[in-house]
Amino acid sequence: MAETIAFIGLGNMGLPMAANLVKAGYKVQGFDVVSAANAAAANVGAKIAASASDAVKGADIAISMLPNGRLVLDLYESGILQAAAPGTLFIDCSTIDVDSARAAHGLAAAAKMESLDAPVSGGVGGAQAATLTFMAGGSEEAFARAKPVLEHMGRKIVHCGGAGAGQAAKICNNMILGISMIAVGEAFVLAEKLGLSHQALFDVASTSSGQCWALTTYCPVPGPVPTSPANNGYKPGFASALMLKDLLLSQEAAESAGAATELGHHAAEIYQKFVSAGEGKMDFSAIINAIRSASSN
Ligand code: NAD
Repeated sequence: MAETIAFIGLGNMGLPMAANLVKAGYKVQGFDVVSAANAAAANVGAKIAASASDAVKGADIAISMLPNGRLVLDLYESGILQAAAPGTLFIDCSTIDVDSARAAHGLAAAAKMESLDAPVSGGVGGAQAATLTFMAGGSEEAFARAKPVLEHMGRKIVHCGGAGAGQAAKICNNMILGISMIAVGEAFVLAEKLGLSHQALFDVASTSSGQCWALTTYCPVPGPVPTSPANNGYKPGFASALMLKDLLLSQEAAESAGAATELGHHAAEIYQKFVSAGEGKMDFSAIINAIRSASSN
């Protein structure tokens, strides 16, 4: 068992993930640029380092959980790769663009470190309950080394392929999710216009060919699925701003790889408009309200 784990980025996701590693018996050396985040991590039993480079000293594994690719590359270029012991495994769990993920692997390899991109799905609830899904990209050896550690934070750990494959899987999945949530929202608004009840549409579509996760698990209208955010004022859940981030990452990747993703592009525009209107903190299923508002009376 790896004894010591550095954890950099102790925000909404990083804090509960680090807490689960402490609970599992690891010595966790945490660091965040925000002192309140460090204080919260100290409260759950992490040892707080004075800098990211200090956090990786003596660590077997270094995990990062940061907002974007630029910050991850800045971190990897900040001297932590030189401060760590040779062969330390660097796992980046942030959701970032595929190109930055591959560049991070390149920096780690040049410094003779092992590396993995391992973004997650499951949200803050999944991070707290240790039920996240990890999508990993990197070598077989790096994955084998990471898996037992990731298992303390998640329920499903999937090796998707080489460098960047975890990020690729994450944005492809979330592009499906963004598009399908808009489709389900449009169907409910059309049903309202046609005088069809929410429950009737749900009962038919959830057992017919329109069936999908956005409908059956995360239904965007109150009632049919009591646990969905629609029953709780569209409190996230998964915030629209984060959905927009992932859709934009998917479109960046589609452009650089030459994939024609017209619906992904349109979904990104729809969420962009929603977020620009000040709704970024609402759950992404609240997009149905924008569809309803755009419809004629
Ligand atoms: P967050 O903003 O709550 O946390 C990020 C933390 O990183 C902050 O505490 C910030 O201070 C810290 N940070 C920024 N730069 C740093 C640096 N150079 N060194 C140390 N710490 C630094 O964000 P979050 O919700 O925890 O999300 C983290 C990542 O997980 C993002 O990439 C996000 O897309 C992804 N993600 C989030 C969710 C979710 O539901 N919140 C779900 C899946 C994936």
